[in-house]
Amino acid sequence: MPNSQSFDFIIVGAGSAGCVLANRLTESGKHRVLLLEAGPSNRHLWLHIPLGYGKLFTNRRYNWCYTTEPQAECHGRNVIAPRGKTLGGSSSINGLIYIRGQAEDFDHWRQLGNAGWSHDDVLPYFRKAEDNERGANDHHGAGGPLGVSDVRDEHPLAAAFIEAAQQCGYPRNDDFNGAAQEGAGFYQNTMRGGLRSSTAAAYLKPARWRGNLTIVSEALATRVLFEGRRATGVEYLVGEDKRIAHAGAEVIVAGGAFNSPQLLQLSGLGPAELLRSLGIPVVADLPGVGDALNDHYFARIILRCREPITLNDAVRNWGQGAKAVLQYALFRRGYFAMPAISAGCFLRALPSAGTPDVQCSIALYSAHDIGGNLDPFSGFMITCTLLRPESRGHVHIKSADPRQAPAIHPNYLAAHKDRDTLVAGVKVLRRIAQAPALARHIAEEFEPGAACDSDDALLDFIRSRGSTVYHPVSTCRMGQDSKAVVDERLKVRGFEHLRVIDASIMPEVVSGNTNAATIMIAEKGADMVLEDARRITH
Ligand SMILES: Cc1cc2nc3c(=O)[nH]c(=O)nc-3n(C[C@H](O)[C@H](O)[C@H](O)COP(=O)(O)OP(=O)(O)OC[C@H]3O[C@@H](n4cnc5c(N)ncnc54)[C@H](O)[C@@H]3O)c2cc1C
Repeated sequence: MPNSQSFDFIIVGAGSAGCVLANRLTESGKHRVLLLEAGPSNRHLWLHIPLGYGKLFTNRRYNWCYTTEPQAECHGRNVIAPRGKTLGGSSSINGLIYIRGQAEDFDHWRQLGNAGWSHDDVLPYFRKAEDNERGANDHHGAGGPLGVSDVRDEHPLAAAFIEAAQQCGYPRNDDFNGAAQEGAGFYQNTMRGGLRSSTAAAYLKPARWRGNLTIVSEALATRVLFEGRRATGVEYLVGEDKRIAHAGAEVIVAGGAFNSPQLLQLSGLGPAELLRSLGIPVVADLPGVGDALNDHYFARIILRCREPITLNDAVRNWGQGAKAVLQYALFRRGYFAMPAISAGCFLRALPSAGTPDVQCSIALYSAHDIGGNLDPFSGFMITCTLLRPESRGHVHIKSADPRQAPAIHPNYLAAHKDRDTLVAGVKVLRRIAQAPALARHIAEEFEPGAACDSDDALLDFIRSRGSTVYHPVSTCRMGQDSKAVVDERLKVRGFEHLRVIDASIMPEVVSGNTNAATIMIAEKGADMVLEDARRITH
């Protein structure tokens, strides 16, 4: 490939959003598209097997393996912050849970002034993306690129968790993405035929051989190039080889919530003082770039199980392990086809909440360290995630070197309400564990343990052992105020031919998981890009 080439569109980042964009923008055959991905291709087996989730946590080839800066409200801990680094991005290493968020989330985005982003506006894009194995209805789509499936095997512990939640008074809910989110049930997953449906598999694979799509992996975008206020191309590195690509129509930044603001800051768009301190020429003083980082924090309780029926047992026991391999090889079923977390309950922990404010879930394994070895006993975990954190942080580059990780400051638990909600949520979680259906499987609460029984002790446990569920957003926030980075058409304010389309544009995190909403954003963003391209041609 020559060191300088021209395209209509350049997409930086082949993640959840980038792969959707690459497919949709090349569909008509009219536009030449370059897709740049910092990570390698997605050939590794574990990227396709659902259980591979656990194997990729610390794999530096496919995962950026970031950690946050010390978090003041978490006893100064550095919290892990994994991100996918391969075709499919984080959708290639994530937990596969398919949850869109609440209708009220998107209606709130609209209330904040973002025309076109109410739930009624975005629902068609969720449906367009989806190939739900249950078929189409008012809420769901069938025939779209993204495989969405039910769990293939209903594990007895997950079934017991659902029953226990019902015993605590929460309704059964068989569709968290349907009419209402509240209640307990099995999650649907981004899977097809027992394999992970990452956006690389769902969107990029069918588009890969189109003559108008060029994919360059192991290509790190280092700078967006400008003529005045117009983006004209991207400078990137392949190994030590510096290359330039020109974009006749648009540059689309889709590097995710940590790397999109990093690339804009490296390109001179960001807080002027920060850029000057690192010797980066300021193109525009945009204090909102990297600001307002919003993420889901969670707490987990580790339980010892009475029976050897957890994933911990299957991993340690030769017979169970061999059975799991065979089940998967022959039928694409069993532990290998199971997402990390297979059932949950959305509920209101604080009585004042209008809609569920926490997501409780059950994981069929336990591990002292997230991403570490499974515990050497029959164990599983129940978790409680704060759905609408008020705490906000930021992402700032630490160096003008694009290969240096940015400083990630989520500011977990900074807001009083976040702390109160999680303490209340963990108490509900314990009630679910004590309900008869689940209690009969539990030998003891291993962590934090019965001695941790006051609100203060629980909060201390949450601070010292809580973590993220990897849903950072809002660092290139869509909005109408002076710190918003993109407008409702996802164009960087004050610039031409430059958009950000990925999870970083969410005005605030959705009350659920973020992959589905990111794919929706990319589907909608692609339509906007193509509409604008048509307007220019006519
Ligand atoms: C471990 C984990 C578990 C998760 N579990 C779930 C879950 O179960 N359900 C759910 O809904 N969500 C889950 N998420 C979150 C969800 O996957 C993300 O919100 C979503 O994938 C974000 O999409 P994105 O397009 O914004 O970014 P990403 O998918 O992260 O894509 C960004 C891409 O850009 C590339 N890139 C970055 N910078 C550059 C550069 N300078 N040059 C070239 N390429 C670059 C990256 O390598 C990456 O491939 C999880 C995330 C993680 C990490």
